Amino acid sequence: MTNYSSPILPPSTIGIIGGGQLGQMMALSAKAMGYKVGVLDPTDHAPAGQVADFQIVAEYDDLKALTQLAQQSDVLTYEFENVDQTALKQVENLTRIPQGVELLTITSHRLREKTFCRQHGLPVTPFVSVKSMADLQAAIQKIGQPGLLKTVEGGYDGHGQFDINEQTDWHLIESEIEQTEWIYELKQDFVRELSVMVTRDGQDQVITFPVSENRHQHHILHTSIIPAQTTDAVKSKAQHIAIQTAEALNLRGVLGIELFELSSGELMINELAPRPHNSGHYSIEACNISQFDAHIRSICGLAIPPIRQFEPAVMVNLLGKNLLTARTDWPTHPEWHLHDYGKAEVRDRRKMGHITVTGPSIESLLASVSQFR
Ligand code: AMP
Repeated sequence: MTNYSSPILPPSTIGIIGGGQLGQMMALSAKAMGYKVGVLDPTDHAPAGQVADFQIVAEYDDLKALTQLAQQSDVLTYEFENVDQTALKQVENLTRIPQGVELLTITSHRLREKTFCRQHGLPVTPFVSVKSMADLQAAIQKIGQPGLLKTVEGGYDGHGQFDINEQTDWHLIESEIEQTEWIYELKQDFVRELSVMVTRDGQDQVITFPVSENRHQHHILHTSIIPAQTTDAVKSKAQHIAIQTAEALNLRGVLGIELFELSSGELMINELAPRPHNSGHYSIEACNISQFDAHIRSICGLAIPPIRQFEPAVMVNLLGKNLLTARTDWPTHPEWHLHDYGKAEVRDRRKMGHITVTGPSIESLLASVSQFR
């Protein structure tokens, strides 16, 4: 990866590929620091576009539009991992892309990601590459079941996944298996799902955030509790894994690491996200530096101080119509930090906003947002 010696200072322009809520919160951090922000997103007036200096309304893989964004930006970043890598490579010489394209090559493909982890001694669940029914049968023989069959690319929040167990509908899998590439993973009987946000600053110092405990519904993150309600030993193991991962990747920008905690206290990486992560939103109100501030500082080559969390925090996602309830109930909950992403259309299970609450007692924080849990 290119080592840029001089930091990128305000009022330089930061270009963000993707105009969703992550881009919006990145843009808000960047704007507060005095940067100009440009966004590329196909939806006019996208959440990030609403708070940026300009938005280019075009598809993410529209090379003309991406070139325009690169030419107008001193540094380019992205808010999701499925960026068109070929298009991004073509604009590499027009601007700085400190996170690099390789980070995307690894993290946008489950098989490459898990192979990378295994090669660097980072713990992952046993896995096998699958392209046919015969491969799947061999994979089950090799690592056992229950397991999960996941598409190597494009799946998120549980999309593109099959549970492999006694009840599996093999006909359904048979009709889909040869359409794409898959990874078969052993299903882990975890006690908790955790995550850590990590980054490296302009002096290559690795900076980690406190460990989040994450609860999902229908495979979608619902609630994060920070600090995670687990032992100090598990939390420091998670931080250690985060540091090793950041170093192995020569990381720039924030990376979210999702982990499973097993009953033995052992940890396994489930997924790497090369961007700020939903479970790190608490850091906006609960920490001296938010994950979005850290992301901007990192890609601009600036220093980042050690992260301190002032108070315990709970974050709940507002999915679909829960946003409308939150808007109505907010006046009676002055303790809520309500984030409304400004999405035009309310859809079932769509992430429309979130609420963070901070305070000394996790129990009362959970009670404060219990109607959404
Ligand atoms: P993913 O789409 O890979 O992020 O997975 C979404 C959710 O599915 C995770 O947050 C877990 O709750 C569950 N999951 C994924 N992989 C596994 C696994 N190997 N073992 C157990 N649960 C899993």
